[in-house]
Amino acid sequence: MKVKFYAIAAFILCSDMAAPAQQSFLDGEAVFKNDEVVFHQIDEHTWVGTGNLVYNESLYLVEGTEKAVLIDAGTRIKDLDKIVATITKKPIMLVATHVHNDHTGSAVDRFPEIYINPGDKDYIPQVMPRYKGNIKFLTDGEEIDLGGRKLEVVFTPGHTPGSTTFIDKNAAYGFSGDSFGSGNLLLSMDFSTLIATCERMSTIMENYGIKFLFPGHYYGNNAETKQRVDDMITLSKDVISGKVKGEKKSNGMMGLNLVITDYGVNINYSEKSIK
Ligand SMILES: [Zn+2]
Repeated sequence: MKVKFYAIAAFILCSDMAAPAQQSFLDGEAVFKNDEVVFHQIDEHTWVGTGNLVYNESLYLVEGTEKAVLIDAGTRIKDLDKIVATITKKPIMLVATHVHNDHTGSAVDRFPEIYINPGDKDYIPQVMPRYKGNIKFLTDGEEIDLGGRKLEVVFTPGHTPGSTTFIDKNAAYGFSGDSFGSGNLLLSMDFSTLIATCERMSTIMENYGIKFLFPGHYYGNNAETKQRVDDMITLSKDVISGKVKGEKKSNGMMGLNLVITDYGVNINYSEKSIK
């Protein structure tokens, strides 16, 4: 399946943004909608669900000929298993981009198993206290075969130790959760880890022609691009070298009390991340 990602002739130049405008996948008619989640179609076999309890927390349903993968489960969506079964008839495998509770909230209780990156396993008692199903671990570099469609698992630590990106090389896009921040990264690890993650992802995007990564909080125009990933490398190196200094904030989420803003992205971090 080949999909055109950028609206034709959508080269609208804003003063601070020279990149072509992204096609929003949230504008069309919903395939499912209730008070807790709205699903829109991305292409023939791919959908994005948007929850509204935190900040547009995103779920992605990716279908092959044999099975489907649900990437993340939102915060608290009642009957999520039944909802996704109205969109795809294939058996559904639940995977998480990381285990923060706006991605692995109580809806995971409806699924018999969940696949996560083992880097996040220490957070499980905190974020999934009532989960009775099987917790299974993903492997870096493995391919999830959906039948006629594959997702490559790429570990992308930084936001959390177990942050993960799923790449669909044929579709030329991926799903990165909060790994690159949707424009506002919360960095719980250090900048060196983030640089390694971004360098690896930049190479993957270049080598496979990946146009963009659907983020964990998708607003229709904030998919991650290779340019953004590259800009985050530059910004991270500038913080480590001391060339730029973050501003203090008093109410930082996750205890991150510094923020640096440049190239149109924010990176929120703490003193201990500067290495
Ligand atoms: Zn998160």
